Amino acid sequence: MKENFKTTIGLEIHIELKTKTKMFCDCKNMEATTPNQYVCPICLGYPGTLPVPNKLAIKYTLMLGLALGCEIPRESKFDRKHYFYPDLPKNYQISQYDMPFARQGALKIKSQNEKVKSIGITRVHLEEDAGKLIHPDGANYSLVDYNRSGVPLIEVVTEPDLQTSSEAKIFLQDLQLIVRYLDISDADMEKGHMRCDANISVQKKQETTPIFEIKNLNSFRAVERALTHEEERLRDNFADLKNQKGKRTLTWLEAQNKTQEIRQKEEASDYRYFPEPDIPIFYPYKLFDLKKMRKELPELPEARLEVLKTKYHLPNNEAFVLLAKPKWYAYFQKVCLNADPKIVADFMINENLGMNLEIEDLINLINNLNSGKITRSFIKQTVLPDLQKGKKLTEILDSADSKFDLDKIINKIVDENSNAVANYKKGKTNVLQFLIGQVMRETRGQAQAWEVAKKLKEVLK
Ligand code: ZN
Ligand code: MN
Repeated sequence: MKENFKTTIGLEIHIELKTKTKMFCDCKNMEATTPNQYVCPICLGYPGTLPVPNKLAIKYTLMLGLALGCEIPRESKFDRKHYFYPDLPKNYQISQYDMPFARQGALKIKSQNEKVKSIGITRVHLEEDAGKLIHPDGANYSLVDYNRSGVPLIEVVTEPDLQTSSEAKIFLQDLQLIVRYLDISDADMEKGHMRCDANISVQKKQETTPIFEIKNLNSFRAVERALTHEEERLRDNFADLKNQKGKRTLTWLEAQNKTQEIRQKEEASDYRYFPEPDIPIFYPYKLFDLKKMRKELPELPEARLEVLKTKYHLPNNEAFVLLAKPKWYAYFQKVCLNADPKIVADFMINENLGMNLEIEDLINLINNLNSGKITRSFIKQTVLPDLQKGKKLTEILDSADSKFDLDKIINKIVDENSNAVANYKKGKTNVLQFLIGQVMRETRGQAQAWEVAKKLKEVLK
């Protein structure tokens, strides 16, 4: 009967921006070594202080808005969002309510069946992060660290256009890539740079469960597992839940693989939003040249995928590996100016030869391979280990010049492996591979395997 259910998922994603300073003060925005290292009267919420908005954070928000195809409104403002919690010393968060910096965009994702699906973006707004509570083991008190307090935070809210947990995961992965291409955040979920709240409800015909919001999911895996679990739970308890009202808030207990209810979610009216009186209204088009900004956006994952597939003829799986690492793409293109893209991709992906080599070095290596001066096995057996040891590529390639006497080496291996040779002569032809391997090792991978095979067979006749 499960086919009759329809699942609706929407996401709210918070992304910490990597600006030099915080959102409304001059405190450093960086990994601290001790609690409360980067704090000041502004981010500690002292009365009488005035917030000064960080222009770069606003620029980053507009860049993400443009990258997500959003409309950038003529006017935008900050609002106060009130709630009482020790990690929020002002008792309100400066956020945006009815006039965000960007709204009504879309992100096209490719679900597992390769179908392209457009996920609506309701809004992209800018706010400040809260501090962090620390609960020491067994203590009857809590500590608070305000290093994160006031760090610029983008919130992206999607339309409820997602229908499965795996779509939600793909959306997040795509969003992470875009954010990394724009270079506005490291967007590392495990480090809390990117955090996700997921809203889910289940419908059948005209009836529906309340919306359940799962808070603070901090890995792609957690997002997928929590939503899969919750979808199942809502279906199993549909008869009870369909008559209930109001939004509910859940937390995901990773270790127990289940969700747990925490508190009734506040309605917007509970937050008593009102315009931040200390910060004037913004006019994004006056503050920035948005046309230029749009033109200067880096090529996004979708466009890069097209280039990798049509210009370089890479298969999907290889293209995706290159896309996942923002810096690899430019490197790949530069190497390809002077080398065959198939080999370059193969070297970068399968031999993990990429950013660790100068562009000229990788081209040099590929040219040497193509001209037959070195072999694949020489690269595997000698070049890679030597590079790891910190040797220079030119030195390693020079060592390949030293001539070796293949016949002499073959004779030596045959002498040393009389058992294998006897077995070969009895008809166990698969022993040949072992002998070839021995010869290759002796030549440090510099011989051609086909030549070794041919000569060995002659010797063993
Ligand atoms: Zn501060
Ligand atoms: Mn928020």
